[in-house]
Amino acid sequence: MLDQIRGLHHVTALTADAVRNNAFFTKALGLRRVKKTVNFDAPDVYHLYYGDETGTPGTVMTYFPFPGIRAGRPGAGEVGTTAFAIPAGTRDAWAARLAGLGISGLAREESFGEKRLHVQGPDGDSLALVEVDADARAPWTGVVGADLAIRGFHSVAMRLRDTGATAELLTFMGYEKLAEERGVARFALPGGAGAHIVDLEAVPDANRAVEGGGSVHHVAFAVENRARQLEVRKALTETGHHVTPVIDRDYFWAIYFRTPGGVLFEIATNEPGFTRDEPVTHLGEALKLPRQHEHLRPALEQQLAPLA
Ligand code: ZN
Repeated sequence: MLDQIRGLHHVTALTADAVRNNAFFTKALGLRRVKKTVNFDAPDVYHLYYGDETGTPGTVMTYFPFPGIRAGRPGAGEVGTTAFAIPAGTRDAWAARLAGLGISGLAREESFGEKRLHVQGPDGDSLALVEVDADARAPWTGVVGADLAIRGFHSVAMRLRDTGATAELLTFMGYEKLAEERGVARFALPGGAGAHIVDLEAVPDANRAVEGGGSVHHVAFAVENRARQLEVRKALTETGHHVTPVIDRDYFWAIYFRTPGGVLFEIATNEPGFTRDEPVTHLGEALKLPRQHEHLRPALEQQLAPLA
């Protein structure tokens, strides 16, 4: 069993509209845009990162905006809901804030004894705010005050036709099953301090999800550094997973593999982080391009929609 995984690192999803997506995450949810770059594998579209002040692993939601992409169709084999932690007692204040901003799809739910507010993102993204007692993580307070602000991820929930193989994989990655409720199995990393929960929802009769706007593209788990990442890569490969070589993503090193349930997993390093190429005070403001795409800058600056 592995002991290198530190919880979620980031969650990456798709949107049809960069401007609308940026406004939702920075203004309505009050996260900080910590990086404005491009999709390294398709540099004509943005890659936008939203998180806490410095983009601490476990707080970072990221989007590939493909202008006009068709909406995804929810189903099996994907991350269904991405949940963020909010302070205990703030659900009603969040509901009032988001309703006041015209955000739809607000629904109060209870799950595993926790109060949640389901929130629909601008592409139909399935998001939730979950009340957490004494989450010690310091929030970004540029837009939303510290009494209310999102602390980082709470969890991701995957929808799977058969949860067995993914449950086995999570256990191999160091997760322990905590509880089961209404067809959802909750796994957590022992000793986790936020962003350490993964829920597996069994949907045996569901159609396969069709990826599109609002869909999660992949979920990334954190390791401290490249040495730990290589240990994880070796262990996953030896257990039969087809893992990519290590890829330099400028702000972290990444490996990817498709899990048996259909969800794309990434293992990402906590080093070097989002402050490697701009100061904390100006994170996310300038368009950052990886060296291999720097020659495209004049065209990209013309083509990519300006963001507030
Ligand atoms: Zn990623």
